[in-house]
Amino acid sequence: MNYELTDFSSDISGFYKLSLEERQRQLVKLLNLSQEEFELMRTLGYFSPAQIDRLIENVVGSYQLPLGIAFNFKINSKDYVIPMVIEEPSVVAAASKIAKIARENGGFVSEEVKSIMISQIQLTNVKDFDIAKENIAKNKQKILDIANEQDPLLNQLGGGAKDLEVREIETRKGKMLILHLLVDVRDAMGANIVNTMAESVTPYIEGICNAKIYLRIVSNLTTHRIAKSRAVFDKDLLGGEEVVEGILNAYEFAVADPYRATTHNKGIMNGITALTLATGNDTRAIEAGAHAYASLGGQYKPLTKFDLDSEGNLIGEIEIPLAFGIIGGITRSHPMARLALKILNVESSGELAQVAAALGLAQNVGALRALASEGIQKGHMALHSRNIAKLAGASDEIIEEVAKRMIKDKKIRVDYAKEIIELISKSNNL
Ligand code: NAD
Repeated sequence: MNYELTDFSSDISGFYKLSLEERQRQLVKLLNLSQEEFELMRTLGYFSPAQIDRLIENVVGSYQLPLGIAFNFKINSKDYVIPMVIEEPSVVAAASKIAKIARENGGFVSEEVKSIMISQIQLTNVKDFDIAKENIAKNKQKILDIANEQDPLLNQLGGGAKDLEVREIETRKGKMLILHLLVDVRDAMGANIVNTMAESVTPYIEGICNAKIYLRIVSNLTTHRIAKSRAVFDKDLLGGEEVVEGILNAYEFAVADPYRATTHNKGIMNGITALTLATGNDTRAIEAGAHAYASLGGQYKPLTKFDLDSEGNLIGEIEIPLAFGIIGGITRSHPMARLALKILNVESSGELAQVAAALGLAQNVGALRALASEGIQKGHMALHSRNIAKLAGASDEIIEEVAKRMIKDKKIRVDYAKEIIELISKSNNL
């Protein structure tokens, strides 16, 4: 404990009723904070006191993190600059670097992402499961209609409750019937929308199923909202065959071992969570969904896959549930989230998920490449300089020569590589 207080107790009530400034002053008194610490809490940045006080309970200040930009991303032939909020160094640089390598082969190809969310309705004390299921099926349209009365705007936009899924599960409290309400939430993340819809259909479903409903809540395992992205990474730009072999070995390690797969997926989430935070989306929802999806087969697995193409280049793929919003939550009310969405220039929640999936893949390749080449100390400078030579535009015939000259002169930089390339081409033309 770094403060010494007599009679200290955390049992405090009514804190939420105070104004922001009163809360700050009370905390100073309670914890014996300095004037400097008081001033720190008062630094709200781009938030007005009223704005920040509306977001959560018991607010005493604002908390800043760096906003960085990842460059070079080409996804489905469109160029993106990606805002990332993260405290960890090297993440933004690694994403930009790998995106540049992916560009050489056309960039990332991300599939369309459907914006379907699941709201779960838990039916207990079901007298007859067959009759309950039959009544749900018979009255499906009525259930969807009741749900759709909750959000007319969503219906106008072509979204709304679209379908039902029924599952029977065994629990320690007996068998339960779980009804999934499938809702197209369009450009929202959708948790609030689907929760409201699920609550609205409860009395009707209890009636037709002769059951007791307890939970009505969104599932963060959004298996109808899967993002997939793919890219080919040039083997030389990655650092050569040995590095690619290292990446494939690292991948197989992750497939076989959950201890490794956890860290593998953490590397993916370095990118995705940073974008989630930047755009004012729900990081916990995205993380929970990703890790649950990674374990669906019974063992926790990597969310990416790797293979080689016929020329020995690395093919990377990612598959991950991503429930993003570009409207709703704080996405439009948080000033920096709004700016981040403007920087990103996406037109739908699906497009944001497509970008996030590509970013996650790039981040993963970046981490694996670093890990795979770290152990290859001897060749490290050679790998690095070959990479720089290729980035500077050296043709396959002269890469080695350019790389060696840079190492010899201890100047491993793109501008110097360009100078050497020019010299070589001049002497070749003589
Ligand atoms: P929201 O309640 O702000 O609703 C979004 C609104 O946007 C809806 O009314 C919808 O009709 C509308 N909309 C959708 N697409 C549109 C478009 N193209 N143009 C105009 N309007 C459009 O937000 P939400 O997305 O339902 O909920 C997200 C929030 O819920 C997040 O802040 C999240 O943290 C929180 N939450 C999450 C969980 C969870 O993940 N378990 C649970 C509860 C709440």
